[in-house]
Amino acid sequence: MLSKFFPGAFIKSIYDIDPASLKAAGIKGIILDLDNTIIARNASTVDEDLKHWVGRLKQEGIKACILSNNWKLRVSSIASQLNIPLVARAAKPYRGAFKRAMSVLGTSKGETVVIGDQIFTDILGGNLAGLKTILVVPMSNSEAIHTKLLRHFERWILKRWNERATIE
Ligand SMILES: [Mg+2]
Repeated sequence: MLSKFFPGAFIKSIYDIDPASLKAAGIKGIILDLDNTIIARNASTVDEDLKHWVGRLKQEGIKACILSNNWKLRVSSIASQLNIPLVARAAKPYRGAFKRAMSVLGTSKGETVVIGDQIFTDILGGNLAGLKTILVVPMSNSEAIHTKLLRHFERWILKRWNERATIE
């Protein structure tokens, strides 16, 4: 059961992901969390690094869709600055949220990866939907109170994940 909370990989940031390697691994679509995954939670302008990375995805023929539980003008503004689709008010970790994103992407389970900074929404939801998952370190300390509380449980899970990786 605990394995549903385990990410497929845990990396520092999206910039450690090479779009060409994803393509080589058969990935055709990426479901991206927004806050603290591709942009700091308190930021509203997309920087050049992010534009460049999304551009590299497109060059490799990989589609991206933002999947966010958030719904503010800021969220749709970021999606349009990047020129990628958005599924907002997503109710992650529910499976339906990920199915909606996959129908936007037009990809199947085996071709889709979820990237996010939270275990209880992005990773758990991605795993329940049968997708590959990548956890990233949150980009900022700005977080909702309930997220801050869940970080304690995340640390416990990641400790188990690390121990498991060592045993294997
Ligand atoms: Mg997030």
